[in-house]
Amino acid sequence: MPEPIIAVKNLQKRYGNFDAVRGLTFSIQQGEIVGLLGPNGAGKTTTLEIIETLKQKSSGSVQVCGYDIDSDAAAIKKVIGVQLQSSGYYPGLNLTQLLYLFAGLYNTTINPLQILSLVNLADKAKAKVKELSGGQRQRFSIATTLVNNPKVIFLDEPTTGLDPQARRSLWELIKAIRATGTTIVLTTHYMDEAEYLCDRIAIMDQGKLIAYDSPDALIDQLLQQGFERKKDIKAATLEDVFIALTGHQLAPVAG
Ligand code: ADP
Repeated sequence: MPEPIIAVKNLQKRYGNFDAVRGLTFSIQQGEIVGLLGPNGAGKTTTLEIIETLKQKSSGSVQVCGYDIDSDAAAIKKVIGVQLQSSGYYPGLNLTQLLYLFAGLYNTTINPLQILSLVNLADKAKAKVKELSGGQRQRFSIATTLVNNPKVIFLDEPTTGLDPQARRSLWELIKAIRATGTTIVLTTHYMDEAEYLCDRIAIMDQGKLIAYDSPDALIDQLLQQGFERKKDIKAATLEDVFIALTGHQLAPVAG
């Protein structure tokens, strides 16, 4: 197997006398979409913020793209993209100006229209963030993670609060970004999203990794333990009904 793009070994984070992350070991391969799942308080944000170099670990080792977080945090910052909450943007600037601002932070030159086209927002180049719908805002916040042509992007609950069409449009965008070779690490509370998007799912609980495998393998493992569903499963879901009734314009313009 090639060298992992992210390698975490025995990672621990202690806040005072509380252990938020208790000895995590896992790796992510280049080009994977990996979902970090777990109940609130499981330690997902803490883990991701340590990998993103935004928070100090207590012990353990983290390597991203071959750079060690202890000696090369600045190099790691240059090769990753981190999704910010859209409330953090300067309200007076339009999307093009905001992308130029982000590019300036990375000391790089960009073609804003090209990046906006990738996320289907070229027609909003002169709009402000407050003029966008929820789905458009999420697509723009993903666009901002791409300005430095990162090898890994981190998405924090990218579809929370969106309607089904906008969610599915985001899913296709995330797959399209992965198709360019970018590795994607995301958090989500939606199991359908994790199942559709993720090559592997890391399930955390109380600071520990309790499962790490493909959605298929995790489901098979449960079935092998004799698990049976109580209800008959219909071939369509209520969400399928909603999508069928309210239109099919998923990608590229929905949201
Ligand atoms: P998740 O993202 O899975 O909801 P977090 O990583 O945000 O979990 O939090 C893990 C645990 O660490 C929680 O119990 C939380 O209260 C605690 N925690 C997070 N940040 C701090 C902090 N700065 N100081 C003290 N405790 C914290």
